Amino acid sequence: MNPEKELENKVKQTIKKYELCGKKEKVLVALSGGKDSTVVAYLLKKFGYEIEGIHLDLKIGRYSEECLNAVKVLCKELNIKLHVYDIKKEMGSGICYLRSAVQSRPDMRGKLKNCAICGVIKKWVFNREARKLKAGKIATGHNLDDEAQTFLMNIFKGSPKLSANTGPITRNLEYSFKGKFVPRIKPLFYVAENDIRDYSKKKKLPVVYEKCPCSLDSYRVQVREFLETISKRDKENIMKNFDRIYEKIRAVKDTRIEYCKSCGEPSRNRLCKKCELVKI
Ligand code: SF4
Ligand SMILES: [Zn+2]
Repeated sequence: MNPEKELENKVKQTIKKYELCGKKEKVLVALSGGKDSTVVAYLLKKFGYEIEGIHLDLKIGRYSEECLNAVKVLCKELNIKLHVYDIKKEMGSGICYLRSAVQSRPDMRGKLKNCAICGVIKKWVFNREARKLKAGKIATGHNLDDEAQTFLMNIFKGSPKLSANTGPITRNLEYSFKGKFVPRIKPLFYVAENDIRDYSKKKKLPVVYEKCPCSLDSYRVQVREFLETISKRDKENIMKNFDRIYEKIRAVKDTRIEYCKSCGEPSRNRLCKKCELVKI
C-alpha cells in the first residue's frame, strides 16, 4: 500500500474506533496554517464530513500573516466556510504581549510556557465559538509525536493524571455538561509527524512549514529531541501503553466542574484557566 493510502486508512480507523465524529454533525477544524491541521481538514472533507474552519490570528507579525493566508487558500480550495478571530479583539493584545505580561507576573514566573498560554486562549475562544456555531466537535491537528511528547512529559514530571485530558477524543464527564464543552477530536492521534509532512507535500497543500517563532518550550524541545532518536514503532508503542493505562488514569481524575465566575465558561475551578491568566 502506498504511504498516502496507509495514512488515510489509519485516520479512518481512528475515527471509526473512537467514534470521533458523524456525518450528520458539523465539525469545526482548528486551522493554524501548519501541516497538521491542514491535513485534518483535507482528510475530513475527503471522507465526506461536514466541516468548517476556525482560525485565531495570533498577530505574530509576518508569520501570522502567512498562516492566515494559507488558511484562506485552503478553505477556498476545499470550498468550506472559514471563521477568523483576532486575538487583539478577543484579548486586548497580541500573543507576544499577553505572554510576557502573564509570564512576568510574580505568581506565574517560570510556571507557564509560551505554548501553554497560547493553548489556553485558543481552547477558550474555539470552545465558545464552536458552541455559537452549533458544531458537534472541534478537530485539532495533534499528531503521534505531540501526544507521545505530552504523555512522556507528564510521566517525567510525575503527573500522569494530566494525561487524562488527552486521547483521540476528550469525552469525559464534560461531554454531557449541559453542552457547554464541545468535545475535541484528534484524527491524527496515531499518525507520525514525518508522515503528515510527506502527505501534505505530496498533496501540495497550502501549508506554512516555518516553525512558530513563539514555540520556545525548552523542556518540550528536549523531549522532542529524544523522541527523534527513536523509531516510529517505538513512538506507537508509547501510545499503545498510554491506551492501556488510559481508563485507569481517567478513573482517578478530578471531575469537579463548575462555571467560571468571570466569563461563565465551564471550568474546574472558580476561575477558568483563561481568566486566571488574562484579565480583561
Ligand atoms: S507553537 Fe505554541 S505559541 Fe506558537 S502558535 Fe502553537 S501553541 Fe501558540
Ligand atoms: Zn473564565
